[in-house]
Amino acid sequence: MASAAAVLWSISQQFYAKTQPFFKNTQTMQSDDSRTRFILEKANVRGVLVRLNETWREVLARADYPGNVQQVLGHAMVAVPLMASNIKFTGKLTLQAKGTGPVNLLVVQGNADGGQRGLARWKSEPPLKPLEKIFGDATLTIQIETGKDAEVYQGVVQAQGEYLQDALADYFENSEQLPTKLVLVCAEGQAAGLMLQQLPVEDADTARRDDDWHRVNLLAETIESDELYNKDPLQLLRQVFAEDDLRVFDAEPLHFQCGCSRERTAGLIQGMGYEEAIDILKDQSQIEITCEFCSSKNVFDSIDVEAIFRGDSSLGDETVVH
Ligand SMILES: [Zn+2]
Repeated sequence: MASAAAVLWSISQQFYAKTQPFFKNTQTMQSDDSRTRFILEKANVRGVLVRLNETWREVLARADYPGNVQQVLGHAMVAVPLMASNIKFTGKLTLQAKGTGPVNLLVVQGNADGGQRGLARWKSEPPLKPLEKIFGDATLTIQIETGKDAEVYQGVVQAQGEYLQDALADYFENSEQLPTKLVLVCAEGQAAGLMLQQLPVEDADTARRDDDWHRVNLLAETIESDELYNKDPLQLLRQVFAEDDLRVFDAEPLHFQCGCSRERTAGLIQGMGYEEAIDILKDQSQIEITCEFCSSKNVFDSIDVEAIFRGDSSLGDETVVH
């Protein structure tokens, strides 16, 4: 199985080879939820800036998350579009943490159209850090599906380090030899982040490369959270990397989106089997399934259930209740 980072890398090679950069008028860059890719050519570094306001508020509105659960979920909500920045067409990237700690499940997914969704399940409020105290003994799984019926790539790393950004940077750096810096910040209603990744080059002057990487990292550390939340991305990048030959690509909009549907929910009922579905219907007059990502509710009565197991495509005319 190819690793997730290797796939991200090969896709990004294609992206940068084929896409011409251009600068956008700063007046039109004010949209709240966006992803901005950039490249520092001489320093051989690629970067991505992500800002999520409305999307993050949509996720927060669906559960009463304690503050420290909010923080790690907010970080993951930003990390996914940062890492998925080079997936094209119908692909999607899922980051999942599963463990035995106070937060026992965290799932965040982003698709190629900029749609993002995420949720966490918690037993008690965790501390702010480290990850071992938040998730317990846990792994972080990064899964990439490149399109419909396409291969699935997976990378796994132990949930270790102070913050999510540390575990994910370690993953890229240690397993994939891709020096990576991630900055993830979130507050109530605002989340943002930055990713820098060193581009491999042949016959590189190693000492100069190391110097450039170190210098670019120090520059990134001068960025305040408030600037990541509020400052125009292009202005911010120009200010921070003023000495570099910065190329900024067109900003892409991001938004909250859940991929659930009545058909997919019917698939869950099919998965449980006819006997079990009928058993539930004996106790209750209908089967109700609520999507944890978006809170939409699907209701199936006995006629719907019979239709599902007959392979009937019309699953009753009950619509999704939000
Ligand atoms: Zn949903």
